[in-house]
Amino acid sequence: MSTRLPLLQVTHLQKSFDTTTVLNDVSFEVREGEIVCLLGPSGCGKTTLLRVIAGLEIADVGDVIFDDRDVRDVPVHQRGFGFMFQDFALFPHKNVWDNVIFGLRMQNLPPDQIRQQAQAALAMVGLNGFEQRDVHQLSGGEKQRVALARSLAPQPKLLMLDEPLGALDRQLREELMIEVRRILKSARLTAIYVTHDQAEAFAVADRVVIMNAGRIEQIGTPVEVYARPASEFVARFLGLPNLIDGTVISQAANVAVIRTPLGHLHVTTDRTFKPQQAITLLIRPDAAALDPNPFDAEGEWFSETPQANVLEGELIDVAFRGRYQRVVVHVNDVDLVFEIETRSTPGAIGRRVRVALQSDALLIL
Ligand code: ATP
Repeated sequence: MSTRLPLLQVTHLQKSFDTTTVLNDVSFEVREGEIVCLLGPSGCGKTTLLRVIAGLEIADVGDVIFDDRDVRDVPVHQRGFGFMFQDFALFPHKNVWDNVIFGLRMQNLPPDQIRQQAQAALAMVGLNGFEQRDVHQLSGGEKQRVALARSLAPQPKLLMLDEPLGALDRQLREELMIEVRRILKSARLTAIYVTHDQAEAFAVADRVVIMNAGRIEQIGTPVEVYARPASEFVARFLGLPNLIDGTVISQAANVAVIRTPLGHLHVTTDRTFKPQQAITLLIRPDAAALDPNPFDAEGEWFSETPQANVLEGELIDVAFRGRYQRVVVHVNDVDLVFEIETRSTPGAIGRRVRVALQSDALLIL
């Protein structure tokens, strides 16, 4: 994929409303055939970024280059982009067919071509046979498919989707996010997909652009950003809450010893740190084993010398989450969150437990 040329390049975009900076030096690119998700909390500037790319807003500074051309002076309808927005409602008094051909009619295409492209779009979203149905006879999921078919039918050079599944309930969203990716890939579309939902971005994207307060925090594949969050913000946003301040004591080859409020921890790393360097350590919630019974009858550790990266603390919370249990262990005044197997028994609240961190549990940010 990395060999493909960028179709869209956004460079150093700056945008303010009154005195508020909403986009701050935003640069990224989208390659041909790629799905890029803009991911970030509400108000971080995702929609504004999309609107600047679409031509619905003008940036104060920076360029939008599409297909090697600066599109600053190209009006919205001449950019050849397609849109699917959460509030981009279907026409309620038209049937499915008339909704899908709407954009094609606007382009004044010959009737044969309109029919062919509309049929192809309906086939792509699996709604052949729904042509004459009234929109109000459709389920929520079917309506979203019609909306997607309507945006696909004009064969846009770039499709922009802004929270396209935001109005749907959780289960339907889960199903459709997989479906949307399949459809976009089978149409070989290049797409920018806005969402505030990490799971949705991970399911849909080839690469994610994580935004915070108008800035880009990190760009990478879902696997890359999850494995190596670039900042505390990204880690927390991806649901990785255990972030601990530490100081590097020493490093031998690829193992650094870090002093933390939890004690000394041994961290495998491919980077080089200086002694006394201050760092932030991420402890992954899903890379630990909890021993609920580490003591004998006299309350002594079964093992006299606890191994490296084994923590001792008090179990203060257990919550059932279906596929896993979320436990909170209080270690030296720090609350650490772990996800452990549903089948395992964490023990009673208030007990002292041991947590063995796996070798991949620790990452220096
Ligand atoms: P959400 O997920 O809630 O839609 P977002 O990440 O898409 O959020 P934007 O809609 O781009 O964020 O908004 C970013 C900031 O810019 C917000 O604080 C918003 O209030 C502000 N904003 C957006 N449009 C305008 C406007 N036309 N005039 C003034 N402020 C605006």
